[in-house]
Amino acid sequence: MADISFRGVNKIYPNGFQAVHDLDLAIDDGEFLVMVGPSGCGKSTTLRMLAGLEAISRGDLLIAGERVNDLHPRTRNIAMVFQSYALYPHKTVQGNIEFPLRMAKIPTAEVKRRALKVARMLELEPLLERKPALLSGGQRQRVAMARALVRDPVAFLMDEPLSNLDAKLRVQMRAEIAALQRRTGTTTVYVTHDQVEAMTMGDRVAVFNNGRLQQVATPQELFERP
Ligand code: ADP
Ligand code: ADP
Repeated sequence: MADISFRGVNKIYPNGFQAVHDLDLAIDDGEFLVMVGPSGCGKSTTLRMLAGLEAISRGDLLIAGERVNDLHPRTRNIAMVFQSYALYPHKTVQGNIEFPLRMAKIPTAEVKRRALKVARMLELEPLLERKPALLSGGQRQRVAMARALVRDPVAFLMDEPLSNLDAKLRVQMRAEIAALQRRTGTTTVYVTHDQVEAMTMGDRVAVFNNGRLQQVATPQELFERP
């Protein structure tokens, strides 16, 4: 169970700028939530607070019922993929996927088993011996996702993961990510400024503007009364 709850969360940066105002938002276990809004509206800040990369100024963040405000990013077991997903260039696809488990000192046999499972899920099995330089943009993106998911994270966060891809690949990857999320059932928060992406991918869409959550609704509800 990994439901997520923001309760009266505020973010004020050290320079005094308030990027997030009184955020109340509950994300269900297994839900695919998309955060959408124009550049600068506080989406990344919210995601970074969830990952533990940015301190919460005021309010509470709960994961699976536990207050995590002061938990170190590593102990939260939250996986994050950014638009610039740096793969290790000298490691193979397999080496990249296995890396987080090796760092966690997991026994080799289990590392292999879990890496293979997630590689199959993302259709990367034929590419396991390749180096990142020989992969397409979409394949690299899938390796980055595999590397994030292999730890069995309590939540999977993506910040504009497709913005470096061309339009055709972006459409294909949207569908792949949505299908992957349904298969794994991992609670997922996906940030985009692209309204089409928001409307086509998530179970629910959270609309941000000027650091405030304006509404949360299913794509269907937003379509019927925007
Ligand atoms: P989005 O992801 O929606 O584009 P961000 O969360 O990145 O928005 O940024 C929200 C606002 O906070 C922006 O106005 C941005 O300039 C500001 N901001 C982001 N990081 C910092 C920081 N470290 N210090 C001060 N202001 C910041
Ligand atoms: P994004 O919108 O994807 O978060 P940005 O280009 O807005 O990316 O921000 C890149 C980095 O610069 C982030 O670490 C962010 O916190 C920081 N940043 C953004 N706006 C400001 C700002 N006004 N003052 C200080 N740092 C900022």
